[in-house]
Amino acid sequence: MIACARGRTGMIVISLRRGDNSPVNTVTLQATGLRFQVAAGETILAAAERSGIRLASDPAAGVPARLLSGRCRHRGEGGEIASSGPVRQPLIELRQAEALADLLLAAEDVGELSELAPRRLQVEVAAKLALAPDVTGLHLRPVAGEGPLRWLPGQYLECLLDDGRRRPFSIAGCPRLDQVIELHIRHVAGGGFTQWVHSDLAVGDTLTIEAPRGTFVPREDSLRPIIFVAGGTGFAPVKALIEHFLHRGSSRAMQLYWGVRTAADLYQRELVQAWCEACSGLDFQPCISDPAQAALAGLRADLVHEAVLADHPDLSGHDIYMSGPPPLIDAGRQLFPEAGLPPERLYYDTFDYAPDLLASILKARLTT
Ligand SMILES: Cc1cc2nc3c(=O)[nH]c(=O)nc-3n(C[C@H](O)[C@H](O)[C@H](O)COP(=O)(O)OP(=O)(O)OC[C@H]3O[C@@H](n4cnc5c(N)ncnc54)[C@H](O)[C@@H]3O)c2cc1C
Repeated sequence: MIACARGRTGMIVISLRRGDNSPVNTVTLQATGLRFQVAAGETILAAAERSGIRLASDPAAGVPARLLSGRCRHRGEGGEIASSGPVRQPLIELRQAEALADLLLAAEDVGELSELAPRRLQVEVAAKLALAPDVTGLHLRPVAGEGPLRWLPGQYLECLLDDGRRRPFSIAGCPRLDQVIELHIRHVAGGGFTQWVHSDLAVGDTLTIEAPRGTFVPREDSLRPIIFVAGGTGFAPVKALIEHFLHRGSSRAMQLYWGVRTAADLYQRELVQAWCEACSGLDFQPCISDPAQAALAGLRADLVHEAVLADHPDLSGHDIYMSGPPPLIDAGRQLFPEAGLPPERLYYDTFDYAPDLLASILKARLTT
């Protein structure tokens, strides 16, 4: 049984009453003071969701949080994980962690996302653009009678295929008055859906999508300078985030590092240059991974995460938003914290394989 009451701080406290005597621990989120209760054997993420609290998550890597006080353990693992004051505050994985005592966590509550439940809708292709040799731009618009789609900058949608499979793509912009939903779709070698989009999909065709999804959204509770790191079409959600901060007239210093293989892959470079001319607080660092191509274009030859580290050996004063293929995200997750970035200030979206493909890759690994 779940009951709600207003706590002493004015916060809503959601409590769980059980008919048996199973121990129940209380989790408090440091940033908001929001509390919820976790039953024995229940994961912290499941308890949060049961209490209507959405915590920032990454579909590929999970839901990390810092344990500021208390004790817990990861499901299936014997060892106890304990915080010992400011000296040792370990990272825990909320999809796996079970509470052994009352906990204080530094985990992000992205409550406003709970107001944006994903919905299924039909959209029509309003425009199809060849952005780069292997990148197609799509402008989608809800068909008559569907009503506009609402989302937060940085979120993604899923295209639903006839056989039930889903293909995720980030929305490359903020909600617009003309209801256009912009996508940047890279044609992956041998990719069924992206090949079809590239060669067969036409203006006027309809698609079924489910959206919005994801928690790669702007965090407004910071005045720190922001570094955006995009790999290839990882630029799509980063574009949405930058447009958001520019639109709000944010005074935060912002830098965009966009890593690609050749200059032709910087497919909306003019747009970025126009942003920089309009906003002196925004700096653009295009990075070309192929040295010969970089020399040809007169641009910086560097891997994008290495360029960030070369320019910022100390990242402790920044927030980083990063989006792109898994190797880039893995490198950033390992190397940026080593340069002083607190891991909870690294926000990222991994352009991973679609869920059905991931499942079959994992299954193949388990059976070999
Ligand atoms: C949250 C999220 C947001 C995303 N946003 C974007 C976006 O804005 N723009 C964009 O271009 N892509 C994005 N992606 C990646 C995109 O979803 C995949 O490229 C797409 O699902 C491939 O579908 P497919 O049917 O063409 O390939 P499939 O037919 O499923 O795969 C065929 C072959 O392609 C390879 N492959 C499949 N997916 C990938 C991949 N991601 N990376 C490398 N090789 C792959 C596999 O080796 C496989 O053999 C996103 C992914 C996620 C998880």
